[in-house]
Amino acid sequence: MPSPTYFEQIPDDLLREITKDMSLPDIAAIASLAPNLPRDTIHSRLKALLASQHLDPEGFLEKMAETNTVLSGSGALEIILPGTCTPGDLDFYCPRDEGQTLSFYLEANGFNKYDYGGSSTKRRSEDVDDDEEHYDNRNGINSVIRLRHDAHGSKIHIIESVSLSPLVPVFFFHSTVVMNFVSATAAVCFYPELTFRHQGLLNFSCSGADRKNRTAVQKYKERGFEIHEFCTALHSHAGLQGIGDPYPQESCSALNRRTDDLFGLKVPHTATYGSTVIRPRVAWRLGYRTFEVKRAEHRFDAVVTVNAEPQPVKYSNTQETEHLIRFPGYDPT
Ligand SMILES: [Zn+2]
Repeated sequence: MPSPTYFEQIPDDLLREITKDMSLPDIAAIASLAPNLPRDTIHSRLKALLASQHLDPEGFLEKMAETNTVLSGSGALEIILPGTCTPGDLDFYCPRDEGQTLSFYLEANGFNKYDYGGSSTKRRSEDVDDDEEHYDNRNGINSVIRLRHDAHGSKIHIIESVSLSPLVPVFFFHSTVVMNFVSATAAVCFYPELTFRHQGLLNFSCSGADRKNRTAVQKYKERGFEIHEFCTALHSHAGLQGIGDPYPQESCSALNRRTDDLFGLKVPHTATYGSTVIRPRVAWRLGYRTFEVKRAEHRFDAVVTVNAEPQPVKYSNTQETEHLIRFPGYDPT
């Protein structure tokens, strides 16, 4: 048995104080000094967040594991980057057809379903606390179940994906700053380089969701995030062969990413073997615009591909996943 490291000799309550506001990469970095610390820190943050909304942490974590459900939105961001926002309602993303299982569990544990009243326009103007207000029948969402705690009024949203992967809606979010999740076994940030520098990329949408996305982006800007509309603000595309040719960094909008690529940061918060494995595997490319050809704007919608059997399934908000908009007066000849 190796002798305990200096870090491991620090009393527990002091360790908790030290790690209280640490971001996910900092926690991951001290794993070599105190192997259990990252795991324990994330796990206790998740349990505290669940308890704050009057969920039984152990029971609900078990349901999350059973149904492959993940916490995303502001709740997940607050776990990986404390101090970013005050999570109110919690948004859980589950695979297609798992919403009922979670809803039954919550209804048996003090929560009641409620309908969101009013028109969608009214909803948009009033529901200001919804961080991921993409609750249209688009953006990878099959349905939304809203529940409120009987006695305490805390709200839980169960957002059912159109896919077997609970993550499809996550890749249609307004920007990369919210492309994080916490599952029953791991905390994952897909854009760590950007997110932990309080930066992000806009996930451009050709569809009507774009205006709504911009409202959400504005909220994150007010919280101190710099959200770039074009990745060329971060790097040059000089020397690339053509439009859409990706710059090989996580910060490029044109890059095709995968949930098992090397850019994402995954920190397990349980001791389970394979706890950071994401199943099924998902590939995605952000929505973006470029102006690299003279007087022509190229628009690309977000595309998400789930590695499902018997063949991969592709999701996008538009039939075409690529548009070429020509400005008036542009003559291609
Ligand atoms: Zn780029």
